[in-house]
Amino acid sequence: MSITTKSRTSDLVLNLNESATIKMAQMARDLRAQGHDVISLSLGEPDFDTPEHIKAAAKQALDEGYTKYTPVPGLVELREAICTKFKRDNQLEFSPKQIVVSNGAKQCVANIALALLNPGDEVVLIAPYWVSYYEIIRMAGGTPVVVSAGIEADYKVTAEQVAAAISPRTKFVLYSSPCNPTGSVYSAEELGAIAEVVAAHEDILIVADEIYEYINFTEQHVSIGSLPQVADRTVTINGFSKGFAMTGWRLGYMGGPQWLAAACSKIQGQFTSGANAYGQKAAATALLADLQPTYDMVTAFRQRRDLVIELLGQIPGFRVNQPEGAFYIFPDISNFFGKTDGENLIKDAHDFCNYLLLQAHVGTVAGPAFGADDCMRISYAASETQLREAIRRIGEAVARLR
Ligand code: PMP
Ligand code: GLU
Repeated sequence: MSITTKSRTSDLVLNLNESATIKMAQMARDLRAQGHDVISLSLGEPDFDTPEHIKAAAKQALDEGYTKYTPVPGLVELREAICTKFKRDNQLEFSPKQIVVSNGAKQCVANIALALLNPGDEVVLIAPYWVSYYEIIRMAGGTPVVVSAGIEADYKVTAEQVAAAISPRTKFVLYSSPCNPTGSVYSAEELGAIAEVVAAHEDILIVADEIYEYINFTEQHVSIGSLPQVADRTVTINGFSKGFAMTGWRLGYMGGPQWLAAACSKIQGQFTSGANAYGQKAAATALLADLQPTYDMVTAFRQRRDLVIELLGQIPGFRVNQPEGAFYIFPDISNFFGKTDGENLIKDAHDFCNYLLLQAHVGTVAGPAFGADDCMRISYAASETQLREAIRRIGEAVARLR
């Protein structure tokens, strides 16, 4: 008799939602494999290649024999470079013992959740949030307590909302700024108010995901950990995927209290060990070398953002936000709910994104996965030609909805 997968699969997997970003990207790939001309604006991935000097550093590291296991929290050389970067860019003071390098910032989030949460513990999750936060918290046994803001508030929650969500079970507050999926950037003042709220509670940490730090079009990036009232209880996550176009290298890092870094390292030591050795050498180069290639990418992202806002704003029905960072636009699409082209009824954001994928061959991600039912996410990390064509097709497809 053969084993039935359903009965043998763990409750953890059965209760887990698949990553919506990865699922939509795969659906777009599958459709393309069937011969359709699909433009995928679903995955948050720079379309640029990793800068040459970083690739050269990896090749050199391979030649120098960086082909072995590294210490679990990362090569000392890289952790020192990360400390230099944190001080230089973020006014954060860390020693290498407070740093853990992981297989992407995604693993940093997972390490931290596993290191902090007991069953029933709560995380104040600021929404719209990045898809994986919600599921990682649940996998670690925690309960996300979602605090949310809509387009009218530029998708930014207030300190009062955070205060109201805190309970005796709260372990940490989690957010990203610049934000995936909205592109919103929290200001020094807004973060200061949130810091005051958290500082008033004993034992609550802040987990600040700053992976889009460099992709910020207006204000200076503010690290909440640089504010004295929360300096010793903030964990700052960052990585190489976005600012250095290194998604496939799988490298991210965290800096935080030494006890937490030790706990994350202990977990990582049983799960994955240290991240790949020659990649870590190249990552140190990325942080310490001239950042001009990054600034050039940011200039291109900014131009594309302006283009997308302009073109999408011309399509009736879209309420378009004005993101100040990252490479996403997060329009409110609730105007389309209840409409139909005669065959397809758009009941919600999922229907709308499926409609765009199948009718316009444009891949996007529906808002519910980010905690925003009325919205959708469009990544504009694509060429201007692709963006123009994608939005033209979207315009045509939605013009058929009545
Ligand atoms: N945090 C945020 C906010 C993200 O958008 C992403 C997306 N890639 C990650 C973390 C994870 O990045 P990576 O694992 O590629 O470093
Ligand atoms: N973070 C990117 C996104 O939001 C990459 C995919 C993922 O890891 O979720 O699309």
